[in-house]
Amino acid sequence: MNLQENKNLIFEQVALAAEAANRSKNSVNVIAVTKYVDSETAKKLVDTGIEHIGENRVDKFLDKYEALKDQQLTWHLIGSLQRRKVKSVINFVDYFHALDSVKLAAEIQKRAEKPVKCFLQVNISEEESKHGFKVTEVEEAIAEIANFDKVIVVGLMTMAPIDASQDEIDTIFARTNQLRRQLQDRKIKNMPLTELSMGMSGDYQIAIKNGSTFVRIGTSFFK
Ligand SMILES: *Cc1c(COP(=O)(O)O)cnc(C)c1O
Repeated sequence: MNLQENKNLIFEQVALAAEAANRSKNSVNVIAVTKYVDSETAKKLVDTGIEHIGENRVDKFLDKYEALKDQQLTWHLIGSLQRRKVKSVINFVDYFHALDSVKLAAEIQKRAEKPVKCFLQVNISEEESKHGFKVTEVEEAIAEIANFDKVIVVGLMTMAPIDASQDEIDTIFARTNQLRRQLQDRKIKNMPLTELSMGMSGDYQIAIKNGSTFVRIGTSFFK
């Protein structure tokens, strides 16, 4: 495992995908998902030139935060969050990617000391196993979440089903961006909706083609 080589390769691929989509490479933020490694390895990865760190679980997020908090990093909590755990973590989080219920938004509103940038997680493919709002549920949810001034909805987050084909992933990501644009046009209070959190190791190029501004990459850094 050569972290510097992997990092260089990923950033090269991101730049190429951005260029192919007529976008600036600076419009795509790479989040290094460190859930597979310990804090020591995460620190070594940060030294290769990483600015964004992501963890999907609260306990591991807090471990990494404790070990790396003195570095200049932006902190992303990318996995689902139980309401009872909001209090312990939310004030260390710069971006929360898995806002999937109004009740969770209410708890963030109650516990956050300053506004938290959040992504509304949408379940475009309507898989039963997935977290996130179905498209038909988004409308009602945002009407309520808009009242929470500590919950800033910067964009939408989605994940493609594990078994989806390239074409299916392309369609899901395109629909997510389309939904984001429709909502953004309505200029809803506390919801800039300029960002998209889409794309993991297996599909980040397709995500960038479809406008993703935050790709969440784990496996490709650590192989
Ligand atoms: C683990 C994880 C990722 C990274 O996935 P890889 O396939 O390892 O790149 C991205 N997003 C979420 C929510 C994750 O839990």
